[in-house]
Amino acid sequence: MENKKESSPPYSNFDQLLINGKWRYGKGAKVLSDLNPYNGTILAEIPHANRDDMDEAYRGAAKAQHEWAALLPGERAAIMRRAAQIMEARREEIVSWIIHESGGTRIKANLEWHAVHGVLLEATTLPYLVEGRILPADIPGKESRMYRKPVGVVGVISPWNWPFQLTARSAAPALAVGNAVVVKPASDTPITGGLLFAKILEEAGLPPGVLSVIVGAGSEIGDTFVTHPIPRVISFTGSTPVGRNIAKLAAEGPMLKRLELELGGNGPFVVLNDADLEQAVEAAVFGKFLHQGQTCMSVNRFIIDDRIHDEFAERFAARVRQLKAGDPDAPDTMIGPIINKSQLNGLQQRIRDAVSAGAHQMVGGEAQGLVLPPHVFSQVTNQMPVAQTESFGPIAPILRARNEADALNIANDTDLGLAAAVFTQDVERGLRFAQQLESGMAHINDQPVNDLPYNPFGGEKNSGVGRFNGAWAVAAFTTDQWISIQHIPRRYPFNAQNIG
Ligand code: NAD
Repeated sequence: MENKKESSPPYSNFDQLLINGKWRYGKGAKVLSDLNPYNGTILAEIPHANRDDMDEAYRGAAKAQHEWAALLPGERAAIMRRAAQIMEARREEIVSWIIHESGGTRIKANLEWHAVHGVLLEATTLPYLVEGRILPADIPGKESRMYRKPVGVVGVISPWNWPFQLTARSAAPALAVGNAVVVKPASDTPITGGLLFAKILEEAGLPPGVLSVIVGAGSEIGDTFVTHPIPRVISFTGSTPVGRNIAKLAAEGPMLKRLELELGGNGPFVVLNDADLEQAVEAAVFGKFLHQGQTCMSVNRFIIDDRIHDEFAERFAARVRQLKAGDPDAPDTMIGPIINKSQLNGLQQRIRDAVSAGAHQMVGGEAQGLVLPPHVFSQVTNQMPVAQTESFGPIAPILRARNEADALNIANDTDLGLAAAVFTQDVERGLRFAQQLESGMAHINDQPVNDLPYNPFGGEKNSGVGRFNGAWAVAAFTTDQWISIQHIPRRYPFNAQNIG
Protein backbone atom coordinates (compact mmCIF):
# COMPACT_ATOMS: atom_id res chain seq x y z
CA MET A 1 0.00 0.00 0.00
CA GLU A 2 1.24 3.52 -0.75
CA ASN A 3 2.37 5.52 2.24
CA LYS A 4 0.80 8.95 2.40
CA LYS A 5 2.32 10.93 5.22
CA GLU A 6 5.79 11.71 6.40
CA SER A 7 5.99 12.61 10.05
CA SER A 8 9.66 13.54 10.48
CA PRO A 9 11.49 16.40 8.80
CA PRO A 10 13.49 15.28 5.77
CA TYR A 11 17.09 14.28 6.38
CA SER A 12 19.62 17.05 5.79
CA ASN A 13 23.36 17.86 5.89
CA PHE A 14 24.29 15.41 3.19
CA ASP A 15 27.60 17.23 2.77
CA GLN A 16 28.90 15.39 5.85
CA LEU A 17 30.11 11.81 6.11
CA LEU A 18 29.39 9.34 8.90
CA ILE A 19 32.78 8.33 10.29
CA ASN A 20 33.09 6.29 13.44
CA GLY A 21 29.74 7.40 14.82
CA LYS A 22 30.05 11.13 13.99
CA TRP A 23 28.67 13.16 11.10
CA ARG A 24 31.49 15.44 9.99
CA TYR A 25 33.21 16.85 6.92
CA GLY A 26 35.74 14.69 5.11
CA LYS A 27 39.31 15.96 5.38
CA GLY A 28 40.29 15.29 1.75
CA ALA A 29 41.54 18.06 -0.53
CA LYS A 30 38.74 17.80 -3.12
CA VAL A 31 35.01 18.51 -2.97
CA LEU A 32 32.54 16.28 -4.82
CA SER A 33 29.68 18.05 -6.63
CA ASP A 34 26.74 15.68 -6.55
CA LEU A 35 24.64 16.50 -9.63
CA ASN A 36 21.10 15.72 -10.76
CA PRO A 37 21.76 14.05 -14.13
CA TYR A 38 18.50 15.29 -15.65
CA ASN A 39 18.79 19.03 -15.01
CA GLY A 40 22.36 19.46 -13.76
CA THR A 41 21.42 21.07 -10.43
CA ILE A 42 23.85 20.57 -7.56
CA LEU A 43 22.30 18.35 -4.89
CA ALA A 44 25.22 18.54 -2.44
CA GLU A 45 28.87 19.57 -2.30
CA ILE A 46 30.67 16.92 -0.28
CA PRO A 47 34.26 17.30 0.91
CA HIS A 48 36.07 14.04 0.19
CA ALA A 49 37.33 11.67 2.83
CA ASN A 50 41.08 11.14 2.89
CA ARG A 51 43.07 8.11 4.03
CA ASP A 52 43.00 9.18 7.68
CA ASP A 53 39.20 9.36 7.55
CA MET A 54 39.09 5.90 6.04
CA ASP A 55 41.45 4.54 8.66
CA GLU A 56 39.31 6.06 11.42
CA ALA A 57 36.19 4.50 9.90
CA TYR A 58 37.77 1.04 9.76
CA ARG A 59 39.29 1.26 13.26
CA GLY A 60 36.02 2.52 14.72
CA ALA A 61 34.19 -0.32 12.98
CA ALA A 62 36.58 -2.93 14.40
CA LYS A 63 36.05 -1.54 17.89
CA ALA A 64 32.26 -1.22 17.68
CA GLN A 65 31.79 -4.64 16.11
CA HIS A 66 32.37 -6.70 19.28
CA GLU A 67 29.48 -5.21 21.26
CA TRP A 68 27.25 -5.25 18.20
CA ALA A 69 27.92 -8.95 17.59
CA ALA A 70 27.28 -9.69 21.27
CA LEU A 71 23.70 -8.35 21.10
CA LEU A 72 20.90 -10.88 21.02
CA PRO A 73 19.82 -11.88 17.51
CA GLY A 74 16.43 -10.32 18.25
CA GLU A 75 18.04 -7.01 19.17
CA ARG A 76 19.85 -6.80 15.85
CA ALA A 77 16.69 -7.93 14.05
CA ALA A 78 14.68 -5.19 15.79
CA ILE A 79 16.96 -2.49 14.35
CA MET A 80 16.51 -3.89 10.85
CA ARG A 81 12.73 -3.94 11.39
CA ARG A 82 12.75 -0.33 12.60
CA ALA A 83 14.79 0.65 9.55
CA ALA A 84 12.12 -0.92 7.31
CA GLN A 85 9.42 1.02 9.19
CA ILE A 86 11.37 4.26 8.78
CA MET A 87 11.56 3.56 5.06
CA GLU A 88 7.77 3.27 5.01
CA ALA A 89 7.36 6.62 6.78
CA ARG A 90 9.91 8.30 4.52
CA ARG A 91 8.93 6.62 1.28
CA GLU A 92 8.44 9.73 -0.86
CA GLU A 93 11.62 11.32 0.49
CA ILE A 94 13.63 8.22 -0.46
CA VAL A 95 11.98 7.82 -3.87
CA SER A 96 12.67 11.46 -4.59
CA TRP A 97 16.39 11.10 -3.81
CA ILE A 98 16.63 8.09 -6.15
CA ILE A 99 14.96 10.06 -8.96
CA HIS A 100 17.03 13.19 -8.48
CA GLU A 101 20.43 11.66 -7.80
CA SER A 102 20.49 8.48 -9.92
CA GLY A 103 18.20 9.71 -12.71
CA GLY A 104 15.89 6.77 -12.15
CA THR A 105 12.33 7.15 -13.37
CA ARG A 106 9.56 7.15 -10.78
CA ILE A 107 8.89 3.51 -11.76
CA LYS A 108 12.52 2.54 -11.11
CA ALA A 109 12.72 4.54 -7.90
CA ASN A 110 9.67 2.76 -6.48
CA LEU A 111 11.06 -0.63 -7.51
CA GLU A 112 14.32 0.24 -5.79
CA TRP A 113 12.46 1.35 -2.65
CA HIS A 114 10.68 -2.03 -2.63
CA ALA A 115 13.93 -3.92 -3.14
CA VAL A 116 15.62 -2.24 -0.17
CA HIS A 117 12.54 -2.59 2.01
CA GLY A 118 12.59 -6.31 1.17
CA VAL A 119 16.29 -6.55 1.97
CA LEU A 120 15.72 -4.99 5.41
CA LEU A 121 12.80 -7.29 6.19
CA GLU A 122 14.90 -10.25 5.08
CA ALA A 123 17.70 -9.00 7.35
CA THR A 124 15.38 -9.36 10.36
CA THR A 125 15.52 -13.13 9.85
CA LEU A 126 19.23 -13.54 9.15
CA PRO A 127 20.52 -13.31 12.75
CA TYR A 128 18.57 -16.53 13.39
CA LEU A 129 20.33 -18.36 10.55
CA VAL A 130 23.77 -18.04 12.13
CA GLU A 131 23.93 -21.54 13.53
CA GLY A 132 26.67 -24.09 14.24
CA ARG A 133 26.85 -27.89 13.88
CA ILE A 134 28.12 -30.96 15.69
CA LEU A 135 30.17 -33.00 13.25
CA PRO A 136 31.28 -36.65 13.09
CA ALA A 137 34.88 -37.32 14.22
CA ASP A 138 36.85 -40.54 13.56
CA ILE A 139 39.05 -40.13 16.63
CA PRO A 140 38.08 -41.86 19.86
CA GLY A 141 36.78 -39.41 22.47
CA LYS A 142 36.80 -36.41 20.14
CA GLU A 143 33.82 -34.14 19.72
CA SER A 144 33.88 -31.85 16.69
CA ARG A 145 31.90 -28.66 16.52
CA MET A 146 31.50 -25.96 13.91
CA TYR A 147 30.86 -22.47 15.23
CA ARG A 148 29.73 -19.79 12.82
CA LYS A 149 30.59 -16.19 13.57
CA PRO A 150 30.62 -12.82 11.82
CA VAL A 151 33.77 -12.09 9.85
CA GLY A 152 34.30 -8.80 11.73
CA VAL A 153 34.39 -5.80 9.42
CA VAL A 154 33.06 -5.74 5.86
CA GLY A 155 34.04 -3.11 3.27
CA VAL A 156 31.26 -2.40 0.75
CA ILE A 157 31.87 -0.72 -2.62
CA SER A 158 28.76 -0.05 -4.67
CA PRO A 159 27.97 1.29 -8.17
CA TRP A 160 25.74 4.21 -9.21
CA ASN A 161 22.97 2.39 -11.09
CA TRP A 162 20.84 0.94 -8.25
CA PRO A 163 22.90 2.55 -5.49
CA PHE A 164 20.44 2.32 -2.61
CA GLN A 165 19.70 -1.35 -3.32
CA LEU A 166 23.26 -2.43 -4.08
CA THR A 167 24.62 -0.86 -0.91
CA ALA A 168 21.75 -2.25 1.19
CA ARG A 169 22.00 -5.73 -0.38
CA SER A 170 25.52 -6.07 1.06
CA ALA A 171 25.38 -3.87 4.14
CA ALA A 172 22.05 -4.98 5.68
CA PRO A 173 22.82 -8.75 5.82
CA ALA A 174 26.42 -8.08 6.86
CA LEU A 175 25.17 -5.94 9.76
CA ALA A 176 22.36 -8.30 10.68
CA VAL A 177 24.71 -11.21 11.28
CA GLY A 178 26.92 -9.13 13.57
CA ASN A 179 29.50 -7.36 11.41
CA ALA A 180 30.45 -3.71 11.28
CA VAL A 181 30.44 -2.15 7.81
CA VAL A 182 32.24 0.66 6.03
CA VAL A 183 30.60 1.76 2.77
CA LYS A 184 32.27 3.56 -0.11
CA PRO A 185 29.53 4.62 -2.53
CA ALA A 186 30.09 5.59 -6.16
CA SER A 187 30.96 9.26 -6.77
CA ASP A 188 27.80 9.79 -8.86
CA THR A 189 25.54 8.59 -6.03
CA PRO A 190 27.05 9.35 -2.60
CA ILE A 191 23.65 9.99 -1.02
CA THR A 192 21.52 7.13 -2.32
CA GLY A 193 24.59 4.86 -2.33
CA GLY A 194 25.41 5.32 1.34
CA LEU A 195 24.62 8.49 3.28
CA LEU A 196 20.84 8.00 3.09
CA PHE A 197 21.14 4.37 4.22
CA ALA A 198 23.30 5.54 7.15
CA LYS A 199 20.70 8.16 8.19
CA ILE A 200 17.97 5.48 8.21
CA LEU A 201 20.04 2.97 10.19
CA GLU A 202 21.12 5.63 12.66
CA GLU A 203 17.48 6.67 13.21
CA ALA A 204 16.64 2.98 13.66
CA GLY A 205 19.10 2.80 16.58
CA LEU A 206 22.24 1.26 15.10
CA PRO A 207 25.03 1.84 17.65
CA PRO A 208 27.69 4.45 16.72
CA GLY A 209 30.68 3.19 14.76
CA VAL A 210 28.99 0.03 13.46
CA LEU A 211 28.32 1.67 10.08
CA SER A 212 30.49 4.34 8.47
CA VAL A 213 30.13 5.90 5.02
CA ILE A 214 33.07 7.54 3.35
CA VAL A 215 32.99 9.34 0.01
CA GLY A 216 36.29 9.86 -1.70
CA ALA A 217 38.35 9.82 -4.85
CA GLY A 218 39.37 6.40 -6.14
CA SER A 219 42.86 7.85 -6.63
CA GLU A 220 43.13 8.77 -2.94
CA ILE A 221 41.31 6.04 -1.04
CA GLY A 222 40.29 3.51 -3.72
CA ASP A 223 43.13 1.02 -3.38
CA THR A 224 43.68 1.36 0.36
CA PHE A 225 39.99 0.80 0.99
CA VAL A 226 40.63 -2.74 -0.26
CA THR A 227 44.18 -3.31 1.02
CA HIS A 228 43.52 -1.96 4.55
CA PRO A 229 44.22 -4.80 7.03
CA ILE A 230 40.95 -4.47 9.01
CA PRO A 231 38.17 -5.57 6.60
CA ARG A 232 37.95 -9.35 6.27
CA VAL A 233 35.53 -9.31 3.35
CA ILE A 234 35.27 -6.79 0.52
CA SER A 235 31.83 -6.83 -1.08
CA PHE A 236 32.22 -5.17 -4.46
CA THR A 237 29.43 -4.55 -6.96
CA GLY A 238 30.50 -2.92 -10.21
CA SER A 239 32.21 -3.51 -13.51
CA THR A 240 34.31 -6.56 -14.36
CA PRO A 241 37.60 -4.65 -15.00
CA VAL A 242 37.41 -2.84 -11.65
CA GLY A 243 36.37 -6.11 -9.96
CA ARG A 244 39.47 -7.84 -11.35
CA ASN A 245 41.63 -5.04 -9.99
CA ILE A 246 39.95 -5.34 -6.58
CA ALA A 247 40.71 -9.08 -6.59
CA LYS A 248 44.37 -8.34 -7.31
CA LEU A 249 44.53 -5.73 -4.54
CA ALA A 250 42.87 -8.09 -2.06
CA ALA A 251 45.60 -10.62 -2.73
CA GLU A 252 48.45 -8.10 -2.58
CA GLY A 253 47.59 -6.20 0.63
CA PRO A 254 49.15 -6.99 4.00
CA MET A 255 46.22 -9.26 4.90
CA LEU A 256 44.49 -11.61 2.46
CA LYS A 257 40.74 -11.19 2.40
CA ARG A 258 37.63 -12.80 1.06
CA LEU A 259 35.79 -11.27 -1.85
CA GLU A 260 32.19 -11.07 -2.91
CA LEU A 261 32.22 -9.82 -6.50
CA GLU A 262 29.03 -8.92 -8.35
CA LEU A 263 30.18 -7.78 -11.78
CA GLY A 264 28.99 -7.01 -15.27
CA GLY A 265 26.56 -8.96 -17.41
CA ASN A 266 25.84 -9.69 -21.06
CA GLY A 267 22.33 -11.05 -20.61
CA PRO A 268 20.89 -13.15 -23.43
CA PHE A 269 17.11 -13.04 -23.98
CA VAL A 270 16.29 -16.09 -26.09
CA VAL A 271 12.96 -16.50 -27.88
CA LEU A 272 12.40 -20.05 -29.15
CA ASN A 273 10.12 -20.73 -32.11
CA ASP A 274 7.12 -21.80 -29.99
CA ALA A 275 7.13 -18.75 -27.67
CA ASP A 276 4.11 -16.58 -26.92
CA LEU A 277 5.33 -13.54 -28.85
CA GLU A 278 3.06 -11.03 -27.17
CA GLN A 279 4.36 -12.06 -23.76
CA ALA A 280 7.96 -12.09 -24.99
CA VAL A 281 7.73 -8.60 -26.49
CA GLU A 282 6.23 -7.08 -23.32
CA ALA A 283 8.94 -8.70 -21.21
CA ALA A 284 11.64 -7.65 -23.67
CA VAL A 285 10.72 -3.97 -23.46
CA PHE A 286 10.87 -3.96 -19.65
CA GLY A 287 13.96 -6.19 -19.39
CA LYS A 288 15.92 -3.95 -21.73
CA PHE A 289 14.77 -0.42 -20.94
CA LEU A 290 14.09 -0.32 -17.20
CA HIS A 291 16.45 2.36 -15.88
CA GLN A 292 17.61 3.11 -19.42
CA GLY A 293 19.25 -0.33 -19.57
CA GLN A 294 21.70 0.64 -16.83
CA THR A 295 21.22 -2.58 -14.88
CA CYS A 296 23.67 -5.48 -14.62
CA MET A 297 20.82 -7.92 -15.38
CA SER A 298 19.46 -5.90 -18.33
CA VAL A 299 19.06 -7.75 -21.59
CA ASN A 300 22.19 -7.17 -23.66
CA ARG A 301 21.34 -9.44 -26.61
CA PHE A 302 18.01 -10.55 -28.04
CA ILE A 303 18.56 -13.96 -29.66
CA ILE A 304 15.54 -14.88 -31.74
CA ASP A 305 14.74 -18.13 -33.58
CA ASP A 306 14.80 -17.59 -37.34
CA ARG A 307 11.14 -18.69 -37.75
CA ILE A 308 9.78 -15.85 -35.61
CA HIS A 309 12.64 -13.36 -35.87
CA ASP A 310 11.05 -10.84 -38.23
CA GLU A 311 7.73 -10.74 -36.45
CA PHE A 312 9.41 -10.34 -33.04
CA ALA A 313 11.69 -7.56 -34.33
CA GLU A 314 8.78 -5.60 -35.87
CA ARG A 315 6.54 -5.95 -32.81
CA PHE A 316 9.38 -5.11 -30.42
CA ALA A 317 10.46 -2.02 -32.40
CA ALA A 318 6.85 -0.81 -32.55
CA ARG A 319 6.49 -1.08 -28.76
CA VAL A 320 9.84 0.62 -28.16
CA ARG A 321 8.82 3.60 -30.32
CA GLN A 322 5.98 4.22 -27.82
CA LEU A 323 8.30 4.59 -24.80
CA LYS A 324 8.28 8.10 -23.38
CA ALA A 325 11.74 9.53 -22.71
CA GLY A 326 12.41 12.65 -20.64
CA ASP A 327 11.91 13.94 -17.10
CA PRO A 328 12.30 10.99 -14.72
CA ASP A 329 10.03 12.66 -12.19
CA ALA A 330 7.01 12.54 -14.53
CA PRO A 331 4.94 9.45 -13.69
CA ASP A 332 4.66 8.27 -17.32
CA THR A 333 8.36 8.61 -18.23
CA MET A 334 9.99 5.27 -18.96
CA ILE A 335 13.40 6.42 -20.15
CA GLY A 336 15.22 8.96 -17.99
CA PRO A 337 18.74 10.37 -18.25
CA ILE A 338 22.03 8.49 -18.50
CA ILE A 339 24.02 8.96 -15.30
CA ASN A 340 26.71 11.28 -16.69
CA LYS A 341 28.25 12.74 -19.83
CA SER A 342 31.08 10.24 -20.06
CA GLN A 343 28.65 7.29 -20.00
CA LEU A 344 26.53 9.03 -22.66
CA ASN A 345 29.59 9.59 -24.86
CA GLY A 346 30.44 5.88 -24.58
CA LEU A 347 26.92 4.88 -25.60
CA GLN A 348 26.87 7.25 -28.57
CA GLN A 349 30.18 5.78 -29.73
CA ARG A 350 28.67 2.31 -29.35
CA ILE A 351 25.75 3.31 -31.57
CA ARG A 352 28.11 4.64 -34.27
CA ASP A 353 30.19 1.43 -34.03
CA ALA A 354 27.09 -0.74 -34.41
CA VAL A 355 26.08 1.12 -37.59
CA SER A 356 29.57 0.93 -39.08
CA ALA A 357 29.75 -2.80 -38.25
CA GLY A 358 26.68 -3.32 -40.44
CA ALA A 359 23.80 -3.43 -37.94
CA HIS A 360 20.46 -2.05 -39.14
CA GLN A 361 19.01 0.70 -36.93
CA MET A 362 15.26 0.16 -36.50
CA VAL A 363 14.70 2.71 -33.72
CA GLY A 364 16.90 5.60 -32.60
CA GLY A 365 17.19 9.35 -32.15
CA GLU A 366 19.37 12.14 -30.83
CA ALA A 367 20.09 12.68 -27.14
CA GLN A 368 18.44 15.64 -25.41
CA GLY A 369 20.78 16.58 -22.60
CA LEU A 370 21.65 13.25 -21.01
CA VAL A 371 18.40 11.60 -22.16
CA LEU A 372 19.25 9.10 -24.89
CA PRO A 373 16.16 7.73 -26.64
CA PRO A 374 15.91 3.96 -27.01
CA HIS A 375 17.79 2.32 -29.88
CA VAL A 376 16.99 -1.00 -31.55
CA PHE A 377 19.33 -2.75 -34.01
CA SER A 378 18.64 -5.81 -36.13
CA GLN A 379 21.10 -7.76 -38.33
CA VAL A 380 23.50 -7.95 -35.41
CA THR A 381 25.97 -10.81 -35.16
CA ASN A 382 27.47 -12.07 -31.93
CA GLN A 383 30.94 -10.98 -33.05
CA MET A 384 29.99 -7.28 -33.21
CA PRO A 385 31.12 -5.21 -30.19
CA VAL A 386 27.48 -4.22 -29.52
CA ALA A 387 26.79 -7.91 -28.75
CA GLN A 388 30.11 -8.96 -27.24
CA THR A 389 30.34 -6.27 -24.55
CA GLU A 390 27.91 -4.85 -22.02
CA SER A 391 25.95 -1.81 -23.28
CA PHE A 392 24.69 -0.53 -19.96
CA GLY A 393 22.34 1.78 -21.83
CA PRO A 394 19.11 1.85 -23.90
CA ILE A 395 20.53 -0.06 -26.88
CA ALA A 396 18.87 -3.30 -27.97
CA PRO A 397 20.69 -5.57 -30.46
CA ILE A 398 18.65 -8.34 -32.12
CA LEU A 399 20.47 -11.48 -33.31
CA ARG A 400 19.06 -14.24 -35.52
CA ALA A 401 19.50 -17.87 -34.41
CA ARG A 402 19.12 -20.76 -36.90
CA ASN A 403 17.49 -23.01 -34.32
CA GLU A 404 17.48 -23.88 -30.60
CA ALA A 405 21.02 -25.31 -30.59
CA ASP A 406 22.36 -22.25 -32.38
CA ALA A 407 20.53 -19.97 -29.91
CA LEU A 408 22.20 -21.79 -27.01
CA ASN A 409 25.65 -21.50 -28.60
CA ILE A 410 25.20 -17.79 -29.18
CA ALA A 411 23.85 -17.23 -25.66
CA ASN A 412 26.89 -18.92 -24.09
CA ASP A 413 29.43 -17.36 -26.45
CA THR A 414 30.48 -14.63 -24.02
CA ASP A 415 32.88 -14.42 -21.10
CA LEU A 416 30.06 -13.11 -18.88
CA GLY A 417 27.29 -15.11 -17.20
CA LEU A 418 24.99 -13.16 -14.92
CA ALA A 419 21.27 -13.31 -15.82
CA ALA A 420 19.50 -14.87 -18.81
CA ALA A 421 15.98 -15.45 -20.12
CA VAL A 422 14.32 -17.99 -22.40
CA PHE A 423 10.80 -17.89 -23.84
CA THR A 424 8.90 -21.02 -24.93
CA GLN A 425 5.42 -22.40 -24.35
CA ASP A 426 6.95 -25.77 -23.47
CA VAL A 427 8.20 -25.36 -19.92
CA GLU A 428 10.23 -28.61 -19.97
CA ARG A 429 11.99 -27.42 -23.11
CA GLY A 430 12.64 -24.10 -21.40
CA LEU A 431 14.04 -25.88 -18.35
CA ARG A 432 16.40 -28.03 -20.44
CA PHE A 433 17.58 -24.89 -22.20
CA ALA A 434 17.97 -22.90 -18.96
CA GLN A 435 20.05 -25.66 -17.36
CA GLN A 436 22.55 -25.43 -20.21
CA LEU A 437 22.93 -21.66 -19.93
CA GLU A 438 26.27 -20.65 -18.39
CA SER A 439 24.70 -18.02 -16.16
CA GLY A 440 24.17 -17.69 -12.43
CA MET A 441 20.48 -16.94 -13.00
CA ALA A 442 18.07 -17.95 -15.76
CA HIS A 443 14.38 -17.15 -16.05
CA ILE A 444 11.86 -19.07 -18.13
CA ASN A 445 9.14 -16.88 -19.66
CA ASP A 446 10.28 -13.81 -17.74
CA GLN A 447 12.84 -11.14 -18.49
CA PRO A 448 16.13 -11.30 -16.57
CA VAL A 449 15.84 -8.30 -14.22
CA ASN A 450 14.91 -10.14 -11.02
CA ASP A 451 16.40 -9.92 -7.52
CA LEU A 452 14.33 -11.49 -4.74
CA PRO A 453 15.53 -11.45 -1.13
CA TYR A 454 15.56 -15.23 -0.54
CA ASN A 455 16.88 -16.31 -3.95
CA PRO A 456 20.58 -16.78 -4.78
CA PHE A 457 21.82 -13.80 -6.78
CA GLY A 458 25.17 -13.91 -8.54
CA GLY A 459 27.13 -14.64 -11.67
CA GLU A 460 29.27 -17.25 -13.39
CA LYS A 461 32.43 -16.69 -15.46
CA ASN A 462 33.57 -13.03 -15.42
CA SER A 463 30.26 -11.90 -13.90
CA GLY A 464 31.44 -12.58 -10.40
CA VAL A 465 32.19 -14.72 -7.41
CA GLY A 466 29.70 -15.48 -4.66
CA ARG A 467 25.96 -15.23 -4.10
CA PHE A 468 23.74 -12.73 -2.29
CA ASN A 469 20.50 -13.01 -0.34
CA GLY A 470 19.13 -15.28 2.39
CA ALA A 471 21.32 -18.18 3.48
CA TRP A 472 23.89 -17.25 0.79
CA ALA A 473 24.39 -13.80 2.35
CA VAL A 474 24.83 -15.42 5.77
CA ALA A 475 27.60 -17.60 4.31
CA ALA A 476 29.15 -14.57 2.59
CA PHE A 477 29.43 -12.51 5.76
CA THR A 478 30.25 -15.17 8.36
CA THR A 479 33.12 -17.56 8.86
CA ASP A 480 33.12 -21.11 10.22
CA GLN A 481 35.43 -22.09 13.03
CA TRP A 482 36.14 -25.76 13.79
CA ILE A 483 36.55 -26.37 17.50
CA SER A 484 37.24 -29.89 18.72
CA ILE A 485 37.15 -31.19 22.28
CA GLN A 486 39.19 -34.24 23.25
CA HIS A 487 37.12 -35.81 26.05
CA ILE A 488 39.51 -38.67 26.89
CA PRO A 489 43.31 -38.68 26.51
CA ARG A 490 44.25 -39.46 22.95
CA ARG A 491 46.79 -42.15 21.99
CA TYR A 492 49.39 -40.71 19.60
CA PRO A 493 51.65 -42.78 17.33
CA PHE A 494 54.67 -40.97 18.88
CA ASN A 495 54.43 -43.08 22.04
CA ALA A 496 57.52 -44.33 23.86
CA GLN A 497 57.15 -47.87 22.43
CA ASN A 498 57.18 -46.68 18.80
CA ILE A 499 60.05 -44.24 19.30
CA GLY A 500 62.20 -46.88 21.11
P1 NAD B 1 32.61 0.68 -11.66
O1 NAD B 1 33.29 -0.63 -11.60
O2 NAD B 1 33.20 1.74 -12.52
O3 NAD B 1 32.50 1.28 -10.20
C1 NAD B 1 31.92 0.58 -9.13
C2 NAD B 1 32.41 1.17 -7.82
O4 NAD B 1 33.81 0.93 -7.70
C3 NAD B 1 32.24 2.68 -7.70
O5 NAD B 1 31.85 2.95 -6.37
C4 NAD B 1 33.64 3.21 -7.96
O6 NAD B 1 33.86 4.44 -7.31
C5 NAD B 1 34.47 2.13 -7.31
N1 NAD B 1 35.86 2.02 -7.77
C6 NAD B 1 36.36 2.27 -8.99
N2 NAD B 1 37.69 2.03 -9.01
C7 NAD B 1 38.03 1.59 -7.76
C8 NAD B 1 39.24 1.16 -7.14
N3 NAD B 1 40.38 1.12 -7.82
N4 NAD B 1 39.20 0.79 -5.84
C9 NAD B 1 38.06 0.82 -5.15
N5 NAD B 1 36.88 1.22 -5.68
C10 NAD B 1 36.87 1.59 -6.97
O7 NAD B 1 31.10 0.34 -12.07
P2 NAD B 1 29.91 1.35 -12.32
O8 NAD B 1 30.14 2.04 -13.62
O9 NAD B 1 29.66 2.18 -11.11
O10 NAD B 1 28.70 0.31 -12.45
C11 NAD B 1 28.38 -0.33 -13.63
C12 NAD B 1 28.89 -1.75 -13.66
O11 NAD B 1 28.49 -2.45 -12.50
C13 NAD B 1 28.33 -2.55 -14.82
O12 NAD B 1 29.34 -3.34 -15.40
C14 NAD B 1 27.27 -3.43 -14.17
O13 NAD B 1 26.97 -4.60 -14.87
C15 NAD B 1 27.90 -3.69 -12.86
N6 NAD B 1 26.89 -4.07 -11.88
C16 NAD B 1 26.83 -5.36 -11.43
C17 NAD B 1 25.84 -5.74 -10.54
C18 NAD B 1 25.70 -7.17 -10.05
O14 NAD B 1 24.96 -7.39 -9.10
N7 NAD B 1 26.36 -8.15 -10.65
C19 NAD B 1 24.90 -4.80 -10.11
C20 NAD B 1 24.99 -3.50 -10.59
C21 NAD B 1 26.00 -3.14 -11.47
